[in-house]
Amino acid sequence: MSAIEDLATELSKLPGIGRKTALRLTYHLLKQSREQSRRLAESLLTLSDRVKPCERCFNLTEDDVCGICRDPRRDQSVVCVVEEPSDIGAIERAGGFRGVYHVLGGRLAPLHGVGPEDLTVVALVERAANGSVREVIVATNPSLEGEATAVYVQRELAATSVSVARIAPGLPMGGDLEYADRAAIAQALAARRSM
Ligand code: ZN
Repeated sequence: MSAIEDLATELSKLPGIGRKTALRLTYHLLKQSREQSRRLAESLLTLSDRVKPCERCFNLTEDDVCGICRDPRRDQSVVCVVEEPSDIGAIERAGGFRGVYHVLGGRLAPLHGVGPEDLTVVALVERAANGSVREVIVATNPSLEGEATAVYVQRELAATSVSVARIAPGLPMGGDLEYADRAAIAQALAARRSM
Protein backbone atom coordinates (compact mmCIF):
# COMPACT_ATOMS: atom_id res chain seq x y z
CA MET A 1 0.00 0.00 0.00
CA SER A 2 1.35 3.46 -0.86
CA ALA A 3 2.05 6.05 1.84
CA ILE A 4 -0.82 8.19 0.53
CA GLU A 5 -3.25 5.26 0.54
CA ASP A 6 -2.02 4.25 3.96
CA LEU A 7 -2.70 7.59 5.66
CA ALA A 8 -6.01 8.07 3.82
CA THR A 9 -7.13 4.65 5.09
CA GLU A 10 -6.23 5.56 8.69
CA LEU A 11 -7.96 8.95 8.48
CA SER A 12 -11.11 7.41 6.99
CA LYS A 13 -11.50 5.34 10.19
CA LEU A 14 -12.19 8.57 12.13
CA PRO A 15 -15.84 9.47 12.82
CA GLY A 16 -17.38 11.68 10.16
CA ILE A 17 -14.46 11.27 7.76
CA GLY A 18 -15.36 9.60 4.48
CA ARG A 19 -12.94 8.35 1.84
CA LYS A 20 -13.05 11.61 -0.10
CA THR A 21 -12.34 13.81 2.92
CA ALA A 22 -9.57 11.44 4.03
CA LEU A 23 -7.83 11.89 0.69
CA ARG A 24 -8.30 15.66 0.77
CA LEU A 25 -6.75 15.79 4.26
CA THR A 26 -3.89 13.57 3.14
CA TYR A 27 -3.04 15.86 0.21
CA HIS A 28 -3.31 18.84 2.55
CA LEU A 29 -0.87 17.20 5.00
CA LEU A 30 1.54 16.53 2.13
CA LYS A 31 1.83 20.27 1.57
CA GLN A 32 2.90 21.06 5.13
CA SER A 33 6.47 21.10 6.36
CA ARG A 34 8.20 18.06 7.82
CA GLU A 35 8.32 19.91 11.15
CA GLN A 36 4.52 20.34 11.17
CA SER A 37 4.07 16.67 10.33
CA ARG A 38 6.40 15.69 13.14
CA ARG A 39 4.45 17.79 15.66
CA LEU A 40 1.17 16.19 14.58
CA ALA A 41 2.61 12.67 14.83
CA GLU A 42 4.14 13.41 18.22
CA SER A 43 0.98 14.88 19.69
CA LEU A 44 -0.93 11.76 18.61
CA LEU A 45 1.59 9.54 20.38
CA THR A 46 1.66 11.77 23.48
CA LEU A 47 -2.13 11.60 23.58
CA SER A 48 -2.23 7.83 23.68
CA ASP A 49 0.72 7.64 26.09
CA ARG A 50 -0.54 10.16 28.64
CA VAL A 51 -4.33 10.09 28.66
CA LYS A 52 -5.90 7.35 30.77
CA PRO A 53 -9.08 6.73 32.77
CA CYS A 54 -9.42 8.31 36.23
CA GLU A 55 -9.05 5.65 38.93
CA ARG A 56 -12.21 6.84 40.63
CA CYS A 57 -14.66 7.94 37.94
CA PHE A 58 -13.16 6.73 34.60
CA ASN A 59 -13.16 10.26 33.16
CA LEU A 60 -10.13 10.85 30.93
CA THR A 61 -7.14 12.38 32.69
CA GLU A 62 -3.37 12.67 32.57
CA ASP A 63 -3.20 12.04 36.33
CA ASP A 64 -4.24 9.05 38.44
CA VAL A 65 -7.33 10.91 39.64
CA CYS A 66 -9.04 13.53 37.44
CA GLY A 67 -9.41 17.24 38.24
CA ILE A 68 -13.14 16.97 38.98
CA CYS A 69 -12.64 14.15 41.53
CA ARG A 70 -9.79 16.11 43.15
CA ASP A 71 -11.71 19.40 43.32
CA PRO A 72 -12.55 20.04 47.02
CA ARG A 73 -15.47 22.27 46.01
CA ARG A 74 -17.30 19.35 44.35
CA ASP A 75 -19.88 17.40 46.31
CA GLN A 76 -18.56 13.82 46.39
CA SER A 77 -21.88 12.53 47.71
CA VAL A 78 -23.74 13.16 44.44
CA VAL A 79 -22.59 11.06 41.48
CA CYS A 80 -23.82 11.66 37.94
CA VAL A 81 -23.53 8.54 35.76
CA VAL A 82 -22.77 9.15 32.08
CA GLU A 83 -21.96 6.96 29.10
CA GLU A 84 -18.80 8.65 27.82
CA PRO A 85 -16.22 11.19 29.03
CA SER A 86 -17.53 13.61 26.35
CA ASP A 87 -20.89 13.68 28.20
CA ILE A 88 -19.09 15.18 31.21
CA GLY A 89 -18.01 18.05 28.98
CA ALA A 90 -21.62 18.63 27.93
CA ILE A 91 -22.90 18.69 31.53
CA GLU A 92 -20.02 20.91 32.70
CA ARG A 93 -20.75 23.39 29.89
CA ALA A 94 -24.41 23.42 30.93
CA GLY A 95 -23.25 24.49 34.41
CA GLY A 96 -25.01 24.11 37.73
CA PHE A 97 -23.96 20.55 38.58
CA ARG A 98 -21.63 20.51 41.60
CA GLY A 99 -21.34 16.77 42.19
CA VAL A 100 -18.92 14.30 40.65
CA TYR A 101 -19.23 11.76 37.83
CA HIS A 102 -18.96 8.11 36.93
CA VAL A 103 -18.26 7.15 33.30
CA LEU A 104 -19.77 3.81 32.27
CA GLY A 105 -17.70 3.54 29.10
CA GLY A 106 -20.72 3.03 26.84
CA ARG A 107 -24.25 1.66 27.08
CA LEU A 108 -25.77 -1.79 26.99
CA ALA A 109 -26.13 -2.83 23.36
CA PRO A 110 -26.65 -6.60 23.13
CA LEU A 111 -26.97 -6.43 19.34
CA HIS A 112 -23.49 -4.91 19.14
CA GLY A 113 -22.05 -7.27 21.72
CA VAL A 114 -21.88 -4.72 24.56
CA GLY A 115 -22.87 -6.37 27.83
CA PRO A 116 -22.71 -5.35 31.52
CA GLU A 117 -19.15 -6.68 31.81
CA ASP A 118 -18.02 -4.08 29.24
CA LEU A 119 -19.25 -1.22 31.45
CA THR A 120 -17.89 0.06 34.78
CA VAL A 121 -21.05 -0.79 36.74
CA VAL A 122 -19.26 -3.01 39.28
CA ALA A 123 -16.94 -0.11 40.15
CA LEU A 124 -19.99 2.18 40.45
CA VAL A 125 -21.71 -0.20 42.88
CA GLU A 126 -18.49 -0.38 44.92
CA ARG A 127 -18.35 3.41 45.04
CA ALA A 128 -21.99 3.61 46.05
CA ALA A 129 -21.61 0.95 48.73
CA ASN A 130 -18.70 2.58 50.55
CA GLY A 131 -20.99 5.03 52.35
CA SER A 132 -19.82 8.37 50.97
CA VAL A 133 -22.40 8.52 48.16
CA ARG A 134 -25.90 9.80 48.89
CA GLU A 135 -27.42 10.11 45.44
CA VAL A 136 -26.73 8.69 41.99
CA ILE A 137 -28.18 10.53 38.99
CA VAL A 138 -28.31 8.39 35.86
CA ALA A 139 -27.66 10.63 32.85
CA THR A 140 -27.32 8.02 30.13
CA ASN A 141 -28.52 9.24 26.72
CA PRO A 142 -32.26 9.43 25.99
CA SER A 143 -32.21 6.47 23.58
CA LEU A 144 -33.65 2.94 23.95
CA GLU A 145 -30.22 1.60 24.83
CA GLY A 146 -29.58 4.51 27.20
CA GLU A 147 -32.90 3.85 28.99
CA ALA A 148 -32.18 0.12 29.25
CA THR A 149 -28.76 0.94 30.68
CA ALA A 150 -30.34 3.31 33.23
CA VAL A 151 -32.72 0.56 34.40
CA TYR A 152 -29.81 -1.89 34.66
CA VAL A 153 -27.75 0.58 36.72
CA GLN A 154 -30.73 1.25 39.00
CA ARG A 155 -31.25 -2.48 39.63
CA GLU A 156 -27.58 -3.02 40.40
CA LEU A 157 -27.67 -0.15 42.90
CA ALA A 158 -30.85 -1.41 44.57
CA ALA A 159 -28.86 -3.34 47.19
CA THR A 160 -27.06 -0.16 48.31
CA SER A 161 -28.62 2.62 50.36
CA VAL A 162 -28.14 5.38 47.76
CA SER A 163 -31.12 7.05 46.15
CA VAL A 164 -31.15 6.70 42.36
CA ALA A 165 -32.63 9.32 40.07
CA ARG A 166 -32.99 9.57 36.28
CA ILE A 167 -32.57 12.85 34.41
CA ALA A 168 -35.95 14.25 33.42
CA PRO A 169 -37.32 13.49 29.97
CA GLY A 170 -37.24 16.41 27.57
CA LEU A 171 -33.90 15.92 25.89
CA PRO A 172 -34.37 14.94 22.24
CA MET A 173 -35.05 11.17 22.10
CA GLY A 174 -32.26 9.27 20.41
CA GLY A 175 -30.04 12.33 20.63
CA ASP A 176 -26.71 12.48 22.38
CA LEU A 177 -26.22 14.51 25.53
CA GLU A 178 -23.15 15.84 23.80
CA TYR A 179 -25.27 17.68 21.22
CA ALA A 180 -28.15 18.77 23.46
CA ASP A 181 -28.34 22.47 24.31
CA ARG A 182 -27.09 23.71 27.66
CA ALA A 183 -30.42 24.88 29.02
CA ALA A 184 -32.05 21.52 28.21
CA ILE A 185 -29.30 19.60 30.02
CA ALA A 186 -29.43 21.86 33.09
CA GLN A 187 -33.23 21.51 33.15
CA ALA A 188 -33.09 17.68 32.78
CA LEU A 189 -30.67 17.46 35.72
CA ALA A 190 -32.61 19.87 37.93
CA ALA A 191 -35.92 18.08 37.27
CA ARG A 192 -34.54 14.58 37.81
CA ARG A 193 -36.94 11.93 39.07
CA SER A 194 -36.40 9.19 41.58
CA MET A 195 -36.23 5.78 39.88
ZN1 ZN B 1 -12.37 11.30 38.27
